[in-house]
Amino acid sequence: MERFKQPEAAVVVGAGSAGLWAAIALARRGTRVTVVDAGAVGSGASWGNAGWLCPSQAGPLPEPGQVAYGLRSLGDRRSALYMAPSSIPGMALWLAAFARRCNARDYAAGVRAMSHLGYPSFALVSELLAEDDDAPAAQRSGLMVAAADAEPVRAFLAAVAPLREQGHELPHRLLDDDELAALEPGLVGRASAVHVADHWQVDPAVFLQYLARRARALGVEIRERWEVSGFELAGGRVAAVRCLNATIATDALVIAAGAASRDLAADLGAHIPVVAGKGYSLDVAEPDWMPRHALMYMDTHLAVSPFGDRLRIAGTMEFSRRRGPDPERVRALEDVARDTFGGWRDAAPAWMGARPIVPDGLPVVGRLPGVANAYAATGYSMLGMTIAAASGDLLAQEMTTGRKPAVAAPFDPARFSRWLRPSVWRRGARRPAVST
Ligand SMILES: Cc1cc2nc3c(=O)[nH]c(=O)nc-3n(C[C@H](O)[C@H](O)[C@H](O)COP(=O)(O)OP(=O)(O)OC[C@H]3O[C@@H](n4cnc5c(N)ncnc54)[C@H](O)[C@@H]3O)c2cc1C
Repeated sequence: MERFKQPEAAVVVGAGSAGLWAAIALARRGTRVTVVDAGAVGSGASWGNAGWLCPSQAGPLPEPGQVAYGLRSLGDRRSALYMAPSSIPGMALWLAAFARRCNARDYAAGVRAMSHLGYPSFALVSELLAEDDDAPAAQRSGLMVAAADAEPVRAFLAAVAPLREQGHELPHRLLDDDELAALEPGLVGRASAVHVADHWQVDPAVFLQYLARRARALGVEIRERWEVSGFELAGGRVAAVRCLNATIATDALVIAAGAASRDLAADLGAHIPVVAGKGYSLDVAEPDWMPRHALMYMDTHLAVSPFGDRLRIAGTMEFSRRRGPDPERVRALEDVARDTFGGWRDAAPAWMGARPIVPDGLPVVGRLPGVANAYAATGYSMLGMTIAAASGDLLAQEMTTGRKPAVAAPFDPARFSRWLRPSVWRRGARRPAVST
C-alpha cells in the first residue's frame, strides 16, 4: 500500500465560510493553500445570512413533521417553505430521500453527530478572534426562541433534548413574565420564549473578511474572480485545477463551492446531491422595536439579528430555479416583519443566498470516493457559520494524516455513492475531468 503523505499544496474551491475555515485549518497544519473563488470573498450564502453561531440549532434539516408542513405549503409563494412546481420533477428522488429522514430516530442521531461540530466551533472562533486586535466583535448575549403560542417553543425544548443529555447547557422550561421582562421586554404579552445562552452572533460579511485576513496571515493565497471550470487527473489523482484564467497544479483539492459543489464533484465522478435551498434576508434601519437579542420565531420561521441600529430579518426556504429574489416572497417577508417589528426608517434591497443542502441534512466533509486526493467541505445547509470551523478542522486532520477522525464518519461523502442519480444530476454544463 502506498504510504500516505501530507499534501504540500492544496487548492480550495470557494471562499465562503466552508472554504476559508478549511484553508485556515490546512495552513495551520503546514499545507500551502490557494483559495479560488468565482466571485469575491464571502459573496455566496456566507454574505447576508443571520450570522448566528448556534450549536443549539445544529440538527439536520429533515425533522419529524417537515413532510406534512411541506405538503401544506406546496406551491404557496408566500409561505416560509416554498417549492416551485417546475422544480419538483427534477427533485423527486432528492425529496423522497429527504422525506425518509424526517423521523425522530434519524433526527436525534443527526443532532448527536452535529454536536461534534457546533459546540467545538466556539473554541476555534474564539481562538481566531483573539489573534488580532482589530478582530470583529461577536455578540454573546444569547438567543431568544419565541412563538406566539407556547407549543412551538416546547417543541424546541424537546428537540434539543439529545444535546441536554450530552451535558450542554440548554433551557428546560419557558421563561415566566418577570424573566421575560428582564431579558427581552418587547416580547412580554406577545410571545412565549426561552433563552439559549450558548449562542453568538457576528456580522457575516465583516466576519468573512476577517477570516480571509487571518487566512492570508497564515500564507493562504486567495484568488478572487477565478472560476473553476474543471480538473486534470493523473493516476487517479487531481493533478491540476483548471480555472477560466489559468491552471493551478496541486497535490490536493477541496470542493467548498457551496450550492455549486455538486457539478464540480460530478466532474470527478463523485455524487454529492447538493441542491440550493434559497433563503432571504432584509436589513431594516431603526425599526419601531429593536430587540436586545437574536430572536428565533418558531411559528413564523424568522431569524432576527440586531446589528447596531440595523435589524437583519432572515428566513425562508425556497427550491426554485430563480436567480434573484422573488418579489412576491420579499413582500411576504416584509409583511411578517412588519407584523412583528412595526415599521422602520429605511430598508436595503432584499438579499437571497443559496444554502448547500443534501437530503440527509448532514454536512459532507471528507475524501471523495474514487479520487485519492479530492475532498469536499459542503452541505452545511442552514448552519454554515456555526459548524464550518470544526468541520474544516476535521477535514484538515483527515487530509494531513490520512485518517478520518471517528466523529467525522457520519459526514463521509462516500455515503452517497450508491444513490440513484437522475441523469440531469450526472454533471453540469461544464466539461468533466481530463485524465492524462
Ligand atoms: C437567509 C439565510 C440565513 C442564514 N443564517 C445562518 C446563520 O445565522 N447561521 C449559520 O450558521 N448559517 C446560516 N445560514 C447558512 C449559511 O449561510 C451557509 O450554510 C453557508 O454560508 C454556506 O457556506 P459555503 O462556504 O458552503 O457556501 P458559500 O458561502 O455559498 O460559498 C461558496 C463559494 O463558492 C464559490 N464558487 C461556486 N462555484 C465556483 C466555481 N466553479 N469556481 C470558483 N468558485 C466557485 C462561490 O462564488 C461562493 O463564494 C443562512 C443562510 C441563509 C440563506
